[in-house]
Amino acid sequence: MASSTTPSDDAEETIAESSEPESALETARRQLEYAAEYVDIDPSIVERLRHPKKVHEVTVPIERDDGSVEVFTGYRAQHDSVRGPYKGGLRYHPDVTRDECVGLGMWMTWKCAVMDLPFGGAKGGIAVDPKALSDDEKERLTRRFAQEMRPAIGPTLDIPAPDMGTDPQTMAWLMDAYSMQEGETIPGVVTGKPPIVGGSEGRDEAPGRSVAIIAREVIDYYDKDIKETSVAVQGYGSVGANAARLLDDWGANVVAVSDVNGGVYDTNGLDTRSIPSHHEEHEGVLRHDAPETVTNDELLELDVDVLIPAAIGNVLTESNADDIQADIIVEGANGPTTIAADAIFAERDIPVIPDIIANAGGVTVSYFEWLQDINRRSWSLERVNEELETEMVEAWNTIRETFESRDVTWREATYIVALTRIAAAHEARGLWP
Ligand code: GLU
Repeated sequence: MASSTTPSDDAEETIAESSEPESALETARRQLEYAAEYVDIDPSIVERLRHPKKVHEVTVPIERDDGSVEVFTGYRAQHDSVRGPYKGGLRYHPDVTRDECVGLGMWMTWKCAVMDLPFGGAKGGIAVDPKALSDDEKERLTRRFAQEMRPAIGPTLDIPAPDMGTDPQTMAWLMDAYSMQEGETIPGVVTGKPPIVGGSEGRDEAPGRSVAIIAREVIDYYDKDIKETSVAVQGYGSVGANAARLLDDWGANVVAVSDVNGGVYDTNGLDTRSIPSHHEEHEGVLRHDAPETVTNDELLELDVDVLIPAAIGNVLTESNADDIQADIIVEGANGPTTIAADAIFAERDIPVIPDIIANAGGVTVSYFEWLQDINRRSWSLERVNEELETEMVEAWNTIRETFESRDVTWREATYIVALTRIAAAHEARGLWP
């Protein structure tokens, strides 16, 4: 695991290219190609979907606190908007590249389609180490990026959200800079804002909540009793900690959790609320008392019923896939499983529930936030959580029906659902010659 990991503030606790040569774009393209074989889809649409519609690249100069000027590069890859405005996170990380944004933007297109949200897919980022910047510098960086990207984003055009290395405060600055330039307050230009400026209740916890809901459904599908189910969670940021705590509340036995430094392990079950999440205490997991500690690699190989990789990308690879002992894998991070590992799990009959459904609660509550911004009316936390539960179970049931009626993996079933909707929309709208 890369030691430079910045635990994320959102679904994407991912460094998609850190540990393996397989890039997010390669993985995303190959997944598209595999899935397209199962869908009656015009090959020209698949060819179109292999590419982004547009990629914006901007230079972002900022004045550092010592008066010097530093220049960063920012991107916004807009993959597909056939079903609605582009939607997806904005990440600050040194490994951000154009291609990584394109790959992650493709996953957003599928994620929004799986959830049947009226959005397309995008992803942006700045190649910068946010830990090396003061808060003032981060604010200047975000405002300058907003200014450079102003023509490319907007509440009906492209709506950024938090991702790795960014958080609700980043979204508040982005919204403010955009609004100042437009001359009016436009909350709907970003989601994942603090509730006081038009953000939604429950948005922060939503990706972890959806991971827990999907884990609960799959546990039930395989006729296990959640009260007799052991769970290991890699990553204790917003996704991992919220998923672990909810599953714990619902009776599951969460036996191991970890952060970038390693994990704690107790076969009798951990008290997940007393272990600090990344937001409560940075890298605090190992300071919690537990009978045993494990490395991140060891955690992945524990003999548990459910494994939830919710930290970074490419952690389940050809080199450890044969040693994974979990009965079920639920992807909390984006892209935790390489193509080669996926094939090994299929061969070994280990169900892998893909990221684009499991952590889709983040973008789903982003959609709720966008609706609240348009209507200028906020929802209660209870309403957000209830509607999220309904949307997740509905999406899960559609995927389950596809899984049962076709001889495919869970990932393929999920892609079939997404791709069928996207292809139908492209066919209905047509190609403007
Ligand atoms: N970054 C999150 C994801 O990968 C959320 C995107 C959004 O809410 O637009 O799903």
